[in-house]
Amino acid sequence: MKIGILSRNKKLYSTRRLKEAAEARGHEVDIIDTLHCYMDITSSRPVVRFKGEELPSYDAIIPRIGASISFYGTAVVRQFEMTGSFCVNESVAISRSRDKLRSMQLLSRKGIGLPRTGFAHHPDNVPDLIKNVGGAPVVIKLLEGTQGIGVVLAETEKTAEAVIEAFMGLNANILVQEFIKEAGGADIRCFVVGDRVVAAMKRQGAEGEFRSNLHRGGSAVLIKLTPKERATAVAAANIMGLNVCGVDLLRSSRGPVVMEVNSSPGLEGIEAATGKDVSAMVIEFIEKNAQRNKNKTQGKG
Ligand code: ADP
Repeated sequence: MKIGILSRNKKLYSTRRLKEAAEARGHEVDIIDTLHCYMDITSSRPVVRFKGEELPSYDAIIPRIGASISFYGTAVVRQFEMTGSFCVNESVAISRSRDKLRSMQLLSRKGIGLPRTGFAHHPDNVPDLIKNVGGAPVVIKLLEGTQGIGVVLAETEKTAEAVIEAFMGLNANILVQEFIKEAGGADIRCFVVGDRVVAAMKRQGAEGEFRSNLHRGGSAVLIKLTPKERATAVAAANIMGLNVCGVDLLRSSRGPVVMEVNSSPGLEGIEAATGKDVSAMVIEFIEKNAQRNKNKTQGKG
């Protein structure tokens, strides 16, 4: 097959590994810099152009769209869908997962376990917003944050109010969430491919840190999931419409709760922690499922 990987940087571990895995299985691979793709959207024959040439018709596209280029990146994926290439994750699903509020609303309406969460832009009654999720301690998150930046644990109502007011002063969208203390500063990354969790790791925050992000000094180990955790991760991926994704769970006293679904999950951490060839599993999924003109949305979303 001819596979295109949409990625800004061919040296990134995940990009390199996907290329290696695909080539090892006999496929031809191009790495395409997403931001350098351009297209004529009025043409009756959809194509994607790159450096003065029309890109070939790929059997499959693996989108690795970073959060900072979601807007342009999803438009490029949409265009590839219109050309009939099988896109591992479709544009609509990527957009859905990029919007934390939209994702949580979608997951909640299907009954997926979530931390009690309130969101607000400019609440007139801050104490009520805090009370609404069960009172302090609460976790306050900047909606646009990544890698744990803008995620604050407020131990008391007073601190919570002060932090919320500070964020409000910045005109930011915020999320106020019940603090899952029993998670013990750890979360679980489930790597979903198709309708299976193919690898899972537990990330533990550094001593005294409630955030488990590896970028913040956390460490990762292989973990065995409970059937409920597996089912929750697969259901969350399915609701988002993502074929390949990372579902982050917290172990709460009432069972697994979903924190986030990531449409471009990194491969380095998960392959190192589990020793599994997750990249090859992504390629196998493509081999089994890639058919031309078989995207669910075909650029319609
Ligand atoms: P980011 O997307 O910036 O990584 P997250 O929402 O994933 O932000 O939060 C970062 C980390 O903080 C999580 O991996 C988790 O370990 C911890 N955390 C986030 N929300 C909660 C919560 N409600 N209860 C307990 N720990 C949390």
